[in-house]
Amino acid sequence: MAGKDFVEAVDDADSDASASSGFTFSSGQAKAAMDLDVQADDALLIQQVSILPQGFEVEGRPLSDIAVPSDRLRFRQGINHVLENGGIARLLLRLDMGDSPHALIGIAKLAGEYPIGVSGLFFESENSLYGNDVDEASLYRELFERLPFAVYFKDADARYIRANNNFVRSAGFTHQKDVIGKTWSSIFAGPEGSTLPHGDEEVIRSGQPMVGMTELESYADGESKVVHSSRYPIRSRSGEVVGTMGFSHDVTQSARVVEALHRSEQRYALAAQASRDGIWDLSVEDETFEFSARMCELLGLPDTREPIPEEDAYLNFRPEDRERFRREFAKLLTGEINTIEQTASIKVDGRKVWIEVIGTALKVDGEVVRFIGSAADITEDREREAELEILARHDPLTGLYNRRVLLEKVDEVLDERIPATLLALDLDYFKVINDSLGHQAGDEVLCEVASRLKSVSGSGHLGRLGGDEFALLLTGDDHTLAEEIAAKMTDEVRGELTVSGLDLFTTASIGIVKLSDEYNDANQAFRDADIALYAAKKNGKSRYEVFEPELRDAADNELDRQVMVRRAVQENDFFLMYQPVFETNTQAINGAEALLRLTREDGTVEAPPAFLPYLEQSELIAEVGEWVIYTALSDLAAWKADGLIDGDFRIGINVSRKQFLLPGLADCILEGIDAYNLSGDELMIEVTETAVVNDQDLLGNTLERLRSHGIKVALDDFGTGQSSLSVLHEMPVDILKIDKSFIDRVHDKNGRSITQAALWLANSLGLETIAEGVEEAPQFEWLQENGCDMVQGYLLGEPMLEEEIRTMFVRLGQILRPVPDLEDEVETTADDAWATLEIAKMNRPTLAEWAELVTGRKAA
Ligand code: C2E
Ligand code: CA
Ligand code: CA
Repeated sequence: MAGKDFVEAVDDADSDASASSGFTFSSGQAKAAMDLDVQADDALLIQQVSILPQGFEVEGRPLSDIAVPSDRLRFRQGINHVLENGGIARLLLRLDMGDSPHALIGIAKLAGEYPIGVSGLFFESENSLYGNDVDEASLYRELFERLPFAVYFKDADARYIRANNNFVRSAGFTHQKDVIGKTWSSIFAGPEGSTLPHGDEEVIRSGQPMVGMTELESYADGESKVVHSSRYPIRSRSGEVVGTMGFSHDVTQSARVVEALHRSEQRYALAAQASRDGIWDLSVEDETFEFSARMCELLGLPDTREPIPEEDAYLNFRPEDRERFRREFAKLLTGEINTIEQTASIKVDGRKVWIEVIGTALKVDGEVVRFIGSAADITEDREREAELEILARHDPLTGLYNRRVLLEKVDEVLDERIPATLLALDLDYFKVINDSLGHQAGDEVLCEVASRLKSVSGSGHLGRLGGDEFALLLTGDDHTLAEEIAAKMTDEVRGELTVSGLDLFTTASIGIVKLSDEYNDANQAFRDADIALYAAKKNGKSRYEVFEPELRDAADNELDRQVMVRRAVQENDFFLMYQPVFETNTQAINGAEALLRLTREDGTVEAPPAFLPYLEQSELIAEVGEWVIYTALSDLAAWKADGLIDGDFRIGINVSRKQFLLPGLADCILEGIDAYNLSGDELMIEVTETAVVNDQDLLGNTLERLRSHGIKVALDDFGTGQSSLSVLHEMPVDILKIDKSFIDRVHDKNGRSITQAALWLANSLGLETIAEGVEEAPQFEWLQENGCDMVQGYLLGEPMLEEEIRTMFVRLGQILRPVPDLEDEVETTADDAWATLEIAKMNRPTLAEWAELVTGRKAA
């Protein structure tokens, strides 16, 4: 009805309008078109006009201003009809264009629930629309393209059959052929991105249009838009639904989104409630937030539904986060940034929660009207990240930092030139514990040690580098503090440890290095800390050493020494020296100890402490040890053959613990004895106390086998190990060699009593005794008085070359052999006049004279 009236109205009013019209539609010229904006209930604002009637300003003017009054109401009714029912209507409206009123025919198409727009074409007259020279279909096509909407037609399978350029462009393409024939899902991102396909199905199923929906369209490139859209069924002539058509209008950048959000507040509130995310909306004008209930919950704020001043929103934030949020939102409000993406830690009811806040500015015509966004609880993610972080940075056994972190931290202080001290710590007996008690016990020890170290490491960064190595990084230039902490650490570790019910004992050695400009990276710092650590071990363990450059030279020396040892083995540049052993009472020489020497390339001679550790490390000791055994036995055999010594003489050969651990030692010794036609009791194997105690079984078996062949076993360096006199009877030994450190103390009462006890105990156990390192006459006299069987030391004889000891045998043999029958045999010894004189005079030389004779120099 209304439409008919309009048409009639056009008929009435149009009679003379065309002549003075300022625009024509002839010759393919673009048609004048306009978009109308429904502002208020009855105001229609002309938004956009592509071609204006000449001299006519319509843009921004309400229709009420420019329409002929009698047309207004009917035009409005026509629009309302379309608003309610959708579709396209032909409407006639005459515009009051000043002097001469012009006629206009509008065709309006409106989007459902929210009247988003009205589009129209200006026509010169009704005739031009219905007349012969106007192709109405092309006008519709024209309109189809000109509509400020994305318009499309789809078949029943949601395949695009037709789409206007707005659609093509809004979908991110340039040509219609890019879209036609494609399905919805190949253009838009995943099904959750949009309700479009559901909408299509719904429309096809029900045959009912869906109009005025606000939807989020997501595209494959990650972009998304908020659109208002409507969808209608397409019916065949028989009324069957064969597809859908629809249009959508991008309102992402429009204030209407906010309007829509408010209008659909209920829906929005429901969505916000249901969502795990909080939703916020910040007003630019008064800088207040509106929060969804969930948002309030996340922020730990009461849900008052009242706007909250921007700066009050961060009440429960960690102070540093609060400051950051204020800064970032200030930037958002001043337009410095358009989007926000921040995380914060919040205390809610005593629980720590992490939230991630994202948001964006809503702009209309380049101007920000609001900010909207959401917030999600990311506590679980954070906790998982934190766990991973802990795993990546900590030693799983002890919970201390791992090597990587320590290196990182050292690099950091070096880079920033922060004064600091690095301590490298290593347990002294951990390997023994691990090997003998197993890894479980080893792990327990490491954990216990870690917690003890932690208790004294102050504010430093403590880490386990691996195995039984720990490190502590202390910042600050208080180096005495570092030494105090090192001392505390060694004390702490030394304390008794109970692991799996066993009382264990371990100690720690520490290397300290002051970090200075000299270091470029952590590796260099750790290298020097290790050098100092090595020195601490060498200097007795359970102690610390501070790194000095000289130590580095010593370490370089280490390498030299390894090279030296390898070379000597290749070139066989070893030789033996022999140190005589004397019977205390008769002062007769009754044995000699073979001592190994190495000749360097430059001809200088090295004693065992300088090379033995490297021989043992490299296991070259096995090869060299065999050589020692054969050489000493062959020398002994030669001395015997030359009549220099008799059958009571015993050669002592040192065998280190490491040699026992390598196979073939006993075989080698026994074969050697055989080869040189010697008997077992002419040989004495010298083993150290620590070797016997630590490897009782292994050593015990080998030693028993040797003893069963008459070979004597001497316990070397007695008194320097850990075992006490009380376990002496358990050891498979025949001879006790009392260490020089005991002999050094015989002049003081306390020291003397221990040596006395050792001698007494050895005697009562039937062990022979040899005193080592006898350097002074009073020591010898005391040993003589206290029943020590044999003596060895610089006083009576230093280690000497094989030809030197031969000379000594000759000399002493000539002096001493006759002693018991001095009167009878004085003539046979007379060829040494001096000796004869002495013997004749004293019957036996004084100790000093004797020592002088033996060593060839005056005794002190
Ligand atoms: P050791 O078995 O205790 O040998 C005695 C060491 O004390 C020798 O040092 C000797 O030169 C030194 N000495 C002897 N009398 C005195 C004295 O009155 N005063 C002082 N201050 N020192 C004295 P050397 O030859 O340097 O040997 C050191 C250690 O090397 C030996 O200690 C022994 O454990 C080991 N060793 C020597 N030769 C061999 C060998 O062929 N094989 C193995 N496995 N170890 C050896
Ligand atoms: Ca020895
Ligand atoms: Ca010794």
